[in-house]
Amino acid sequence: ENLQNTTFPTTNAEQYEAARSVMPGGVNSPVRAFGSVGGTPRTMVKAAGPYLTDVEGTEYVDLVCSWGPMLLGHNHPAVVEAVHRAVDAGLSFGASTPDEARLGRLIMDRVPVEHVRMVSTGTEATMTAIRLARGATGRNLVVKFAGCYHGHSDGLLAAAGSGLATQSLPGSAGVTEAQAAETLVLPYNDRAALEAAFAQHGERIAAVITEAAPCNMGVVTPEDGFNLFLRQITQDHGALLIWDEVLTGFRASDTGYWGLSGRLEGWTPDLWTFGKVIGGGLPTAAVAGRAEHMDLLAPLGPVYQAGTLSGNPVAMASGLATLENATAEVYETIGRRSEQLESMLVDALNAEGVDHSIQRAGTLFSVAFGTSENGVHNYADAQGQEAFRYGPFFHAMLEHGVYLPPSVFEAWFVSAAHDDAAMERIGAALPHAAKAAAAA
Ligand code: PMP
Repeated sequence: ENLQNTTFPTTNAEQYEAARSVMPGGVNSPVRAFGSVGGTPRTMVKAAGPYLTDVEGTEYVDLVCSWGPMLLGHNHPAVVEAVHRAVDAGLSFGASTPDEARLGRLIMDRVPVEHVRMVSTGTEATMTAIRLARGATGRNLVVKFAGCYHGHSDGLLAAAGSGLATQSLPGSAGVTEAQAAETLVLPYNDRAALEAAFAQHGERIAAVITEAAPCNMGVVTPEDGFNLFLRQITQDHGALLIWDEVLTGFRASDTGYWGLSGRLEGWTPDLWTFGKVIGGGLPTAAVAGRAEHMDLLAPLGPVYQAGTLSGNPVAMASGLATLENATAEVYETIGRRSEQLESMLVDALNAEGVDHSIQRAGTLFSVAFGTSENGVHNYADAQGQEAFRYGPFFHAMLEHGVYLPPSVFEAWFVSAAHDDAAMERIGAALPHAAKAAAAA
């Protein structure tokens, strides 16, 4: 509200220049760079409800939502108030605090797990889950799917999605051959590939790690029964199933409260990872599962894991307030807005004859250009799309006040704060973007 009184002394271009002189590529996380879409990244100074404001005072409808955490929209009053209270009580204690157990309990109430360990990032959560799976099974190999992203720990960077997909990187330099050799990368939705891998290496596979629905190569919908197949083949071979819901967890509308895993009928994975929404915008993530596995963690068991700021009280307050306010109505709103957004997008693209398909997982979706004939079922399909259409599409949206992920390989995020006014602004921008995509 005091933005009108604020003067903006610099431009986005000047900020980017300053950022590049400090941070590699001007960013602290590659997905924020405009590498694949080109142009000058926006430097943001304020967020409220469905809007972001950049350093020049330009306001955007935000369809990134901090890459997932802002389920309720930016600066939700209840979350801000809880955070203020926590800050007043102390920033970090280096000892246990009541809210850690409270947030863990909230997760346990909504997800069939027996114990929860808080960490600070999704990367730590999946890294810990893998170590636990190896500790529990005494085996080394991990199966992951091409195009899935599980954070930036060494062994999980092979054929990973997200920023690696955007930059067309097969993996990361600096990962040892030994690490890479312990990760088997398979095509998503491919049961025969899994059967072959388990037939050959079954006794050495500690775990299969998967996203509940892949959202880091754009969204890819799991084919009917694929996730259940993962449950069965891991169980048959004594391997664990690690269910990465860092991105999808606590986000889906049609499944009650706990993300895409709400779709599971009568079965559960062994280990779960959460992040993003459970911190409500502050750094928190978690690994969770049955006591038989979770109690292998130190100090009870031999699998070591620790964190100076794990369960940080300010982050716990933010996460608690977010989950407590993630009511059925919130999910209903997000589901409705997400569907509205999809149909507006499809109408705009069809009006310009832009060939595309939409992949959906719960309230998350993404667009893939030039894929209407076969859709997108795996990373090869995602990479085969007409990605060159996205840059012009993205920039037309940006010019008309809508901030999309600066990569076609990312999901679009809607929050409960996306109201009619925000949707109208998106609706006004889309025809321009569709024209730009058609002309690309
Ligand atoms: N797993 C998944 C499915 C993710 O989408 C992400 C981040 N986008 C991560 C893990 C890593 O989380 P973080 O960035 O907090 O390390």
